Amino acid sequence: MPIRRSLIAGNWKMFGTRAEAERLLSELKTRIGRPADREVIIAPPFTVLETVSRLVAGTSIGLAAQNLHWEPQGAFTGEIAGPMLKDAGCSHVILGHSERRQYSGETDELVARKVHAAHRDGLVPIVCVGETLEQRERGETTDLISRQVRTALHGHDHTTLASLIVAYEPVWAIGTGRTATPAQAQEVHAAIRATLAELSDHATAEMVRILYGGSVKPDNVDGLMAEADIDGALVGGASLQAEAFARIVQFR
Ligand code: PEP
Repeated sequence: MPIRRSLIAGNWKMFGTRAEAERLLSELKTRIGRPADREVIIAPPFTVLETVSRLVAGTSIGLAAQNLHWEPQGAFTGEIAGPMLKDAGCSHVILGHSERRQYSGETDELVARKVHAAHRDGLVPIVCVGETLEQRERGETTDLISRQVRTALHGHDHTTLASLIVAYEPVWAIGTGRTATPAQAQEVHAAIRATLAELSDHATAEMVRILYGGSVKPDNVDGLMAEADIDGALVGGASLQAEAFARIVQFR
């Protein structure tokens, strides 16, 4: 048994009415069945969490939210708290997605607060990190990613670190059709694991699952998943098509 179970997560972003979610889920369930050796998670918008929660009940598909507020409740109009996500059936939450960093001004420090909140509220965070094209071209990728990981995951014990999930998502590859090559992704994944080992120890770092995200498609998933430190994928656009997402789940 490999130490890390493969995980494919679908981020629906701001797409999906209840009727669309029902159609997509019903086709997806038929296509993927119950994969024994890999985990599948769907992250739909807040308004369909409950619908999707009902549709995945009794299947092996897990449910994630795309964000949370760091307080468990309070006067924060328009925000959603961790206990509410638990109540809606979520087990996971995506944090620090580059679209939230870019359009909602989320910083590494804010992401760190949210990671602590997720832990407090019993949700497994999927913590996203990634560099822009300019940062890559300036040769800053490894240092930047290491800093993002250190700041976002500061102050957790080894057990908590081992259970959370990191997603490496180069900003230049998200929704652009450009994918990091397997070798480029592997290089950053290995650097993330080395940073995790510095934050904890080697054995803990070996347990953390690190997903790759950025235009993952049926025709590139196999190559990416063949790399030693790539433990799964965070899939945006292709997760909205049952056939494409099912093929990604069935990577070989
Ligand atoms: C994402 O939303 O996390 C993502 C990686 O999107 P896409 O697969 O569309 O690039």
